[in-house]
Amino acid sequence: MVGYKDIGIDLGTANSLVYLKGKGIVLREPSVVAVNTDNNKILAVGTEAQKMIGRTPGNIIAIRPMRDGVIADFDTTYNMIKYFLGQVPEISGFFSKKRVVICVPADVTSVEERAVKEAAIQAGASEAYILEEPMAAAIGVNLPVEEPTGSMIVDIGGGTTDVAVISLGGIVASKSIRTAGDELNSAIINYIKQQYNLMIGEPTAEHIKVSIGSAYNLKEGLTYNVKGRDLVSGLPKNIVITEEEIYYALHETIKKIVEAVKACLEKTPPELASDVMDRGIVLAGGGALLKGLDRIIAEETGIPVFVAEDPLSAVVLGTSKMIENIDKLKGIITKKRYSRR
Ligand code: ADP
Ligand code: MG
Repeated sequence: MVGYKDIGIDLGTANSLVYLKGKGIVLREPSVVAVNTDNNKILAVGTEAQKMIGRTPGNIIAIRPMRDGVIADFDTTYNMIKYFLGQVPEISGFFSKKRVVICVPADVTSVEERAVKEAAIQAGASEAYILEEPMAAAIGVNLPVEEPTGSMIVDIGGGTTDVAVISLGGIVASKSIRTAGDELNSAIINYIKQQYNLMIGEPTAEHIKVSIGSAYNLKEGLTYNVKGRDLVSGLPKNIVITEEEIYYALHETIKKIVEAVKACLEKTPPELASDVMDRGIVLAGGGALLKGLDRIIAEETGIPVFVAEDPLSAVVLGTSKMIENIDKLKGIITKKRYSRR
């Protein structure tokens, strides 16, 4: 009998996670690759590359290959997978067969999907399977995906928000939009630029969002001391911004996410929609951690909303459950197996 190393990978637009059977989640790094544009050489991947964002000289760019659900190019994706697998000592050995279940954003094309499988094989996997992300997220948060009942999962990541209703092991209705955490950050950057003539970088916007951002006007009176560059004088400047201002800054983007949930409900057959009404909606992905998002979606849809216990890990935990039952659950892996020979 061949001993396999069974590996689950969540290639998210913002974060990549790796699960190893028997070990648990063994890696969590940003999906970022830093490239020198003079010679196209990859300088860093993951956390190291993330540190370079906004701090690089002109000839170094930071690429997020999975951003916005579009896989930038094969080489970058391949190098990213190879680097992540190489980071885990228990995986990196040459003499073990690796069976990999990979999740990619829901709206990738079949060409992109093939490219990811091929990249995984070239990076050392002997077998690679692609699992649709909403399915993985739903399995990861313990929704009864195989039962004849409608379960709704909303995965708010960095580049995309994916809404899906699942029943009997299949996706019955879905809606995917390229609006999620990144766009919330852009909304903060734009607001501060327009209101205060202050330029801030993406990491600052992210920090503001995580610290005082909310999707609901909670009126908790929080404030944040923002450091940026004055657009008029060109010099560093500090301002104090309130939680309520950020709430207004995020409002339009939040509305798009709420609309996507509604659009998916409209596409859902009535019986299954009524299951969702009864059982509620589950939020996953890092965006689920935005304060008040559950509340605004519940209010707008009239359906109870729950935030997953560990929203950032939902997808990779879904792949882990697939791996634990890889033979039994092969039916759920919708796309064909793809292997080296
Ligand atoms: P992806 O699956 O696309 O890689 P993730 O599920 O890892 O995305 O979520 C990343 C997104 O979650 C980022 O946009 C990040 O800003 C956002 N995020 C993480 N933590 C929080 C938080 N506490 N509040 C709001 N947004 C958060
Ligand atoms: Mg994700």
